[in-house]
Amino acid sequence: MRVGLVTLGCDKNTVDNEYLAGLIGTKGHTVEIADEKHPPDCVVITTCAFLEVAKEQSRDQIRRWARIRKDHGTRLGVIGCMSQRHGPELMRDFPEIDFLAGVGQFDKVAELVCGEGRSRFVTDTAEDARSWNLAQQSGGDAPEPIPYDDREFATDAPRVIVPRTLPRQRMDRRPHGFLKISDGCNHTCTFCSIPLMKGVYTSVPRQTLMDEARRMLDDGVREINIVAQDITKYGLDTEKRMALPDLLNDLCTIGGDYWIRLFYLYPSTVTKDLLAVVRENPKIARYLDIPLQHLSESVLKRMRRPHDRKRTMEMLRSIRSEFPEITLRTTFIVGFPGESGAEFQELLDGMDEIKFERLGVFTYSREAGTPAAELPNQLPERMKKTRRDKIMKRQAATSAEWAAAQVGCTRRVLIEGRVAESDWYVGRSDSEAADIDGVVRVHSAAKLNVGDFVEAKIVASDVYDLTAEAAVPART
Ligand code: SF4
Repeated sequence: MRVGLVTLGCDKNTVDNEYLAGLIGTKGHTVEIADEKHPPDCVVITTCAFLEVAKEQSRDQIRRWARIRKDHGTRLGVIGCMSQRHGPELMRDFPEIDFLAGVGQFDKVAELVCGEGRSRFVTDTAEDARSWNLAQQSGGDAPEPIPYDDREFATDAPRVIVPRTLPRQRMDRRPHGFLKISDGCNHTCTFCSIPLMKGVYTSVPRQTLMDEARRMLDDGVREINIVAQDITKYGLDTEKRMALPDLLNDLCTIGGDYWIRLFYLYPSTVTKDLLAVVRENPKIARYLDIPLQHLSESVLKRMRRPHDRKRTMEMLRSIRSEFPEITLRTTFIVGFPGESGAEFQELLDGMDEIKFERLGVFTYSREAGTPAAELPNQLPERMKKTRRDKIMKRQAATSAEWAAAQVGCTRRVLIEGRVAESDWYVGRSDSEAADIDGVVRVHSAAKLNVGDFVEAKIVASDVYDLTAEAAVPART
């Protein structure tokens, strides 16, 4: 059987789909990225429901494949966050769906894909099963749903457990991969619906992560991106302490030439221990992604985020002074309910002081079921967009200034691809993360391979990208 996967949403979904691909592969089926032009026998859409726009995107994909199912008989499976949270509605709105599942449950989903499951609907919450049942009973004979029941913890809360070292099939052959060290979140940020879909913080056992990292490196990965909802809390549930520094030290003992890049560092738990481990391990990219969401004390309080602005700014200033080679990435939300001109100015002032090399900004999205959705003073979309554009304009200037300062420097670049039969290649230094930051265009007389690290002298720059001349190719 040919199984096609559609991966929507975040890097956690990418990893979950690689587990699924690995499990289905062990059952003797081929797994590929789903292509509408060559419909597979079965398609699985891993959905996202973080924001309204993501929900619409998920619905759009289901709609497209429902049509293909009618025309080509492709079995249609829908899994992930949207079906975790809105399963019954999706089953009602898309009767073409052959099976649906919530988050996690990798073995169960693989069984369903391979037509071994008895039910059309497995979910992580008995509540959903109940409401699905009711919805069905009102509309005629309902197949008995099978809640995923062999779990020792609360049955009414979703949870993403990696039960053992799962087989993984990478769908993207570029030299970077994601190592998801945990899923779920115990924070209660008022704008965020993730805990409603992913449940409580659940760390992946350290031995499983070591096995996965070795397999990724054996499979040609040269950059391991560490992801979760909050990587700083790794181990609190399983080892009863914040074990990220130890996990990183362990990962750095694996032989080979590669980078480890850190994402989703929660601002209030970027500890001195963690920074020391980054400093002591040259394998760890000099790159820290610390999503701050805002820099106004009063807005952070309404977001239920670490709102001690003074402490946050001190943490950022100490990184700047003690660790100047670090590239700092952050994310902001503008237009949060009640965000005044003065509060927005506090954000701009903080940005101007720290000069983040990398920055993403989102307009606040009113998500049903989140506390912030009920807050007064919801701002008009036009004002949100104006503030977002103002930030991006400032950020472009900061980024261009940083890029210009790179000219003349020699940077180590990971080669990701070759430009059509030419001496030009596309790569990234440890200051650029894949798909969200710029690239380094490298000219090299000597032939380079994807996955090579090369010393390259920066000869030109623009707002986000750099141009470089390969010095001496450093073969891995
Ligand atoms: S830290 Fe906050 S924003 Fe991030 S997943 Fe958890 S609740 Fe959501």
